[in-house]
Amino acid sequence: RLEILSITRRFGGRPVVDDLSLEVMPGQVTCLLGPSGCGKSTALRIIAGVDRADEGEIRIDGTPVAGPGLFVPPERRGTGLMFQDFALFPHLSVADNIAFGLSGTRTEKRLRVRELLDKVGLVRFLGAFPHELSGGEQQRVALARALAPRPKIMLMDEPFSGLDNRLRDGIRDETLSILKDEGAAVLLVTHEPEEAMRMADEIALMRRGRIVQRGAPYNVYNAPVDREAAAFFSDVN
Ligand code: ATP
Ligand code: MG
Repeated sequence: RLEILSITRRFGGRPVVDDLSLEVMPGQVTCLLGPSGCGKSTALRIIAGVDRADEGEIRIDGTPVAGPGLFVPPERRGTGLMFQDFALFPHLSVADNIAFGLSGTRTEKRLRVRELLDKVGLVRFLGAFPHELSGGEQQRVALARALAPRPKIMLMDEPFSGLDNRLRDGIRDETLSILKDEGAAVLLVTHEPEEAMRMADEIALMRRGRIVQRGAPYNVYNAPVDREAAAFFSDVN
């Protein structure tokens, strides 16, 4: 379980993330949704531990990982990360890309790699190199790599925005079923209402550094908090 308690991050005195609080439960997908520049990526970077908040606290399964006088580095937070430019290591095979962050015996690693490649439907590419795969296939390998160490928290920043429309819907659905299967708490950042509607158990609507509304997709869509929120959702059908 991921708890974000009143985090604030200022750049040049301006709060880009402003007193933001949020909770994400295991097995649930929460979408942090908001227009470009509202502070989504900044918030996600702080949660991942690649940036620090000026104020506030972050807890994972009840244990503080960031707060006043406390900073646990990203690799010890048990979080998986997936960004838009999910760059695979070009010189490593698909299997080695997925095994990269894994600990354990060779057999354990091999089994986990196979299990994940099976889930993303790419076992046949086990020994292939990234350049031999399409963009969609590479995206699925990146997902497998992020999930390999069984992160309790999965942080995703616009992971589908590099894919063409034809592929995107299928990969979204597939990703969702794999994430549910793995049982991680997922925080997915997007600026597309349609993506949040499709993926989220809960939407947290963000604007100018703050969360202005939270709820099930259907509720947020049907009962927008104000005209600005209504306008933001208006092009979803
Ligand atoms: P997008 O949907 O376009 O990715 P976003 O919601 O992820 O937008 P952020 O990348 O978090 O937005 O940026 C929020 C604001 O903070 C922007 O105005 C950005 O210019 C500013 N910002 C981000 N990082 C820094 C930094 N290191 N120094 C100064 N300003 C920054
Ligand atoms: Mg961003």
